[in-house]
Amino acid sequence: MIAKTEKVNTEAEQLLEDLSYRNVNAFESMDEEELNRAMRYAEGYKSFLDSSKTEREAVLCGIAMLREAGFREYGFGDELIPSGNYYFNNRGKQLIAFHVGTECVSSGIRIAAAHCDSPRLDLKQHPLFEDNGIGYLKTHYYGGIRKYQWTTIPLALHGVVTLKDGTSVNVNVGDNDGDPVFVITDLLPHLAKDQNQKPLGTAFSGESLNILVGSSPYMTGGEVADVKDPVKLKVLSVLHDKYGMTESDFMSAELCAVPAGRSVDVGFDKWLLGGYGHDDRVCVYPELTALIENKDSVHSLMCILADKEEIGSEGITGMQCRVFTDIIDEIALSFGCDSNLIRQRSVCVSADVTAGFDPNYPEVYEKGNSSLLSCGVALAKYTGSGGKSGTNDASAELVGRIRSVFDGSNVVWQTAELGKVDQGGGGTVAKFIAKANIETIDIGVPVLSMHAPFEIISKADLYSAHKGFSAFFGN
Ligand code: MN
Ligand code: MN
Repeated sequence: MIAKTEKVNTEAEQLLEDLSYRNVNAFESMDEEELNRAMRYAEGYKSFLDSSKTEREAVLCGIAMLREAGFREYGFGDELIPSGNYYFNNRGKQLIAFHVGTECVSSGIRIAAAHCDSPRLDLKQHPLFEDNGIGYLKTHYYGGIRKYQWTTIPLALHGVVTLKDGTSVNVNVGDNDGDPVFVITDLLPHLAKDQNQKPLGTAFSGESLNILVGSSPYMTGGEVADVKDPVKLKVLSVLHDKYGMTESDFMSAELCAVPAGRSVDVGFDKWLLGGYGHDDRVCVYPELTALIENKDSVHSLMCILADKEEIGSEGITGMQCRVFTDIIDEIALSFGCDSNLIRQRSVCVSADVTAGFDPNYPEVYEKGNSSLLSCGVALAKYTGSGGKSGTNDASAELVGRIRSVFDGSNVVWQTAELGKVDQGGGGTVAKFIAKANIETIDIGVPVLSMHAPFEIISKADLYSAHKGFSAFFGN
């Protein structure tokens, strides 16, 4: 009797194993050597992330990585050769890197597209003012932020100013040794009685996100200058000394306030990485390293770093700009192929982060369909909100193709849905790529505290993303 019971249980257990699915954790499926590789891989990502706080900086870092790997700058009309590796710099804010395979490009291009912009606070065109002896810069936030998260944290200023004479100067203050930082102040709890009664969404207004940038007046001959706004004048004089700019030059500037400081390991075991801008540089870096790893592939490959995703992929450097199909047209022309056919046979992984399940806030997630931290790169068949509105919805066939590639290369992967149905939602660049008649699927790294100044990812998931994109390019 006992033996029979045991046999039945074993058979049922086997059946359970054969027929059912469960998320597999990276620590269950990676061996020690691979776990060490994942840890080491994250070190390269840290330097990339710390040097890429704006889309412009991410493009520069991307170009440096590509050039070191032998990629050459491409311009429209340039000759392309099989096995060639190229990158196209779209106005310093969008980067399209590609490898021409030895097989006919008519068989399609494997594309990975991520975005290199992140939520932040942009300066207004007339930002500088003085109030009660304090100098401030007015901001207009860029992308979806929770405003309270941006107060009382050290901020750095990154960007570019085009001066009256047409020359441009780069600004980067707050992230180098000895630099000052900037800050948006908040109320003390003792006086926050009224503010505490307001709903979170209205307690902090966009117009109150003014950055403190100075507190001393301009001095002349040992005396406070007898002018209307001496603190503002002091700030202007520092800016003039350092960058040669005057107040009017703010009008032709792109200055961004971003969280100051470097990315840092999180947790006693150091398997998580906290930092600014994981969305979406945590996908940008793996797609670039995967492209470089496959730069001798027989297949044609492409990596896109798009700007403006956080505000709808608009503008000339956003994913809705046709420059990327123009480049496919140019490739087609070079090899006497039909561009329409190339796009029809191409496949794209739209690489963007997804919301990792957060045990502190289980009420907004449906656990069975959320991505879990450290369970690998997450494949999202669809995104969108309110009944899949505004999503690319990848076909069963495409999901099938990708899962078989991932399984064949032992990639740790899972699926992801962004929160409970009707809880909210979001979109990615996927739908704009699909519009060009290119099969597209969302794949990315789970993030905790997405869009916060300090976002969290798992190094195991980062490494799985690299491995996944590399398998996609190579198979
Ligand atoms: Mn994103
Ligand atoms: Mn985002």
